[in-house]
Amino acid sequence: GLNSNSHSPSSFKMPTIKFSKLFINGNFVDSVSGREFETIDPRNEQVIARIAEGTKEDIDNAVKASRVAFDDGPWPRMPGVERARIMMKWADLIDENREELAALDAIDAGKLYHMLKAFEIPAAANTLRYYAGAADKIHGEVLKPARELHAYTLLEPIGVVGHIIPWNFPSPIFFTKVSPALAAGCTMVLKPAEQTPLSALFYAHLAKLAGIPDGVLNVVPGLGPIAGAAICSHMDIDKVSFTGSTEVGREIMHAAANSNLKPVSLELGGKSPLIIFDDADLDKAVELAFLGVMHNKGEICVAGSRVFVQEGIYDEFEKRLVEKANTWVVGDPFDSKVQQGPQACSNVVAQTHYVDKKQFEKIMSYIEHGKREGATLITGGKRVGNQGYYIEPTIFTNVKENMAIEQDEIFGPVMALMKFKTIEDAIKSANNTRYGLAAGIITKSLDTANTVSRSIRAGIVWINCYFAFGGDIPYGGYKMSGFGRDCGLEALHKYLQVKSIVTPIYNSPW
Ligand code: ADP
Repeated sequence: GLNSNSHSPSSFKMPTIKFSKLFINGNFVDSVSGREFETIDPRNEQVIARIAEGTKEDIDNAVKASRVAFDDGPWPRMPGVERARIMMKWADLIDENREELAALDAIDAGKLYHMLKAFEIPAAANTLRYYAGAADKIHGEVLKPARELHAYTLLEPIGVVGHIIPWNFPSPIFFTKVSPALAAGCTMVLKPAEQTPLSALFYAHLAKLAGIPDGVLNVVPGLGPIAGAAICSHMDIDKVSFTGSTEVGREIMHAAANSNLKPVSLELGGKSPLIIFDDADLDKAVELAFLGVMHNKGEICVAGSRVFVQEGIYDEFEKRLVEKANTWVVGDPFDSKVQQGPQACSNVVAQTHYVDKKQFEKIMSYIEHGKREGATLITGGKRVGNQGYYIEPTIFTNVKENMAIEQDEIFGPVMALMKFKTIEDAIKSANNTRYGLAAGIITKSLDTANTVSRSIRAGIVWINCYFAFGGDIPYGGYKMSGFGRDCGLEALHKYLQVKSIVTPIYNSPW
């Protein structure tokens, strides 16, 4: 069975928490209210640190600093190459502090330390480098109007940006948001998730060391309905970029519409399909399908949580998938043999009216619901141990379309496994969702891959791979998974405005 959760004491020395205050105008400061919240270690439910809690007044202060930095400061006026130089320096500082940053995300979110150190933190730094490279290549175009006019476009930074980010990928998402905005010449206020404020504050410290001018990047930890809501309804924020749940995305659009009509971009939930055809390499398919939903304990917006397998290989596939689950190691994320850590959690209570739904409880209740709905649990389904938020990798079969476990984003290590006959059936079932974030196809047939990839309504489609991401590949939602793209040159345009400049070629009155 699971080499369950041995909690083998890790030899890793826990980092001391150096930054726990708000980062506003280049300084670490207490919150105006003096309030704090606790950030929790999901391995043992212990308090890691008390963090200054930003409220409306603190968001106001951060926006004022951003506004001054935008209207009068050097950042938007600097040659792109200068912005690039500072961003590159920041990226180098991230690499130098890789172990400490990895440890912060590991204790704050229950993520695997070795994966953070080897992949996520370096990828975050590389996203910053990618956009640093773009900072001096942002330009408009010369137009060719039908009339005798000379016309061209300028791309101007949109202004003060508010970024609101989740807790599942604290480092990569921090940089998919701030990097293109910085390259564009914007200034910004970022609110990390209440579950994971630690690395964001460390990045703010490194930004200052790298030479990002005061006020350009402000990091204000706080609660969604308070600090997050204050960002969305602020009259002096020019754009909000959000990654999180579909429900909160809706709140954000409301708040933006009801205040200054700031544009928003939303990267929201998903219930992504992975479609495996009879001609697939079975070992590879099992590996991709399993990791596609169990990686990062299923806390991934693009998780391939609906797996459709063609009938010819279905039985063998199911057997091997359960074998795979049986070798999977759940436990302390600092242990290099462990493959799945605890679900993230927050303990935000009391001082406010806001009580966070614990991710762990939500997942367990979906598992119970799946059983009640009549799906068959073929492996997993239980908590691991009795301390910390560990859950077994869980797989359901006999899942009917439109069951809650087939339609709702669970955000945990829970797979819905289904069988299909024809390519048409697969496409129809895959698209039977209100979401459209990602999809995967496993086949050796080029025709099948081409047909399916063009028929799926999703922002990214992986063929014979899954989670193939990079700062240089745009992704984002169709349907209720949101709109706007993160990553790639595409994302720069969220932070830019187009201005057309027109003048007569001859001295005609118009
Ligand atoms: P998840 O379900 O992934 O936790 P959420 O959408 O709840 O995602 O949270 C993502 C981010 O949105 C967090 O930083 C959270 O604090 C913030 N948030 C939550 N509620 C609101 C709100 N009403 N307005 C603005 N931000 C919010």
